[in-house]
Amino acid sequence: MDIRKPNILGDYLRHKDINCYLDYLARRYSRFVTVFPIGTSFEGRSIKAIKIDLNKGSRKRERQWVFIEAGTHGREWITISTALFCIYQLTEKCFRNVDILKQIGFIIVPVVNADGYEYTHETNVSWRKNRRPIPNCRYVGTDCNRNYDFQWEGGLSRLGKSTFQGEVPFSEPETRAIRNVLKRFSPNIKFFLSFHSYAQSLMYPWGYSKDLPPSWEKLQQLAECGRTAIKKATGRSYRCGSISKLTHRTVHGSIADYAYGVEKIPFVIVMELPSSKFGFRPPNTEIESIVTESWTGIKAMCRRVIKNCQ
Ligand SMILES: [Zn+2]
Repeated sequence: MDIRKPNILGDYLRHKDINCYLDYLARRYSRFVTVFPIGTSFEGRSIKAIKIDLNKGSRKRERQWVFIEAGTHGREWITISTALFCIYQLTEKCFRNVDILKQIGFIIVPVVNADGYEYTHETNVSWRKNRRPIPNCRYVGTDCNRNYDFQWEGGLSRLGKSTFQGEVPFSEPETRAIRNVLKRFSPNIKFFLSFHSYAQSLMYPWGYSKDLPPSWEKLQQLAECGRTAIKKATGRSYRCGSISKLTHRTVHGSIADYAYGVEKIPFVIVMELPSSKFGFRPPNTEIESIVTESWTGIKAMCRRVIKNCQ
C-alpha cells in the first residue's frame, strides 16, 4: 500500500497524516527505518517514534543516538514541520546525509503532544498544554515541558496557567512516554534536541537554576556551532546560552534538564525556532525556508557531536 506524498514543505499536516507518513517510511525503507508507538495520549492518539539506523540488524557495535522531540507545545506548529523535514532528509534523502547516518542513528518523535496539537487545529490556535482534564476542577491540561521529575518541586504554578506543572511529576501520558523511551535508549543517546518556537535561540541546561552545569563550555560550543552554520546559510542570528539566562527566568521540570540531569545525556540543546515576525505558525509559504535553514544548523551540530564522541 502506498500513500499520497504529504506536502511537508507547503502545509502543516494533521496528526493522523503524520502517523501515516511515518508508517509509509517504515514500509518503504524497512532496511533501516522502524516506527514504533511510545505511548497513547489522553484522547487515545498513538504517539509514535521513528528510528533511523543504517546499522539496523547488524551486531557490529553498540549504536549511538541522536534523539529529537517536537510538538510538546500544541501551538508550536513549525517545530513539527522541522522534525518532519529532519525525518525526510534522513530517509528519502538519506544519500545526502550518509556521512552522518554512518556514524550515528536517529530517534525522532515529531508530535509529543498530539491532543494539544489537534486542539490548535480544531478549537484554539494558541493552546500550549495537553488535553487531560485535571480531576476535581474545571481546568484542562498540563504543560508537558514542566512535568518531568527533575527539580519539579520548585516550579509550583496555578492550575489554570498555561505553564501548569501537573499534580505530580509524570502525571501525563506524554511525559511518561518520553521518559520510557529515553530510559530504553540511554546511555547511548549522545545528543538530545528539543524543538520549540519562536525565540530563535539555541539553549542548554540549566533551566531550573541560574548556575551553569559543569560541561557548559562544551554545550555553549555546540550551540555556537549551530548558530554559525545558520548565520552562514541565511544570515539569521540565533542567540546562544543557558535556558535560565536567555529566558530571564527559571524553568522547573523541563525535558532538557531531565535529559541532562537524570539521563546524563552529554549534549542537550533546546532549539527555539524562528521567528518573532511570524510567531508559532508561520504562513505556509514560509515553512520551506525555515525548515531548510534549521536543518543546516541541526546537521552542523550532529557532526560536531559525532566528532566529540569519537
Ligand atoms: Zn515550547
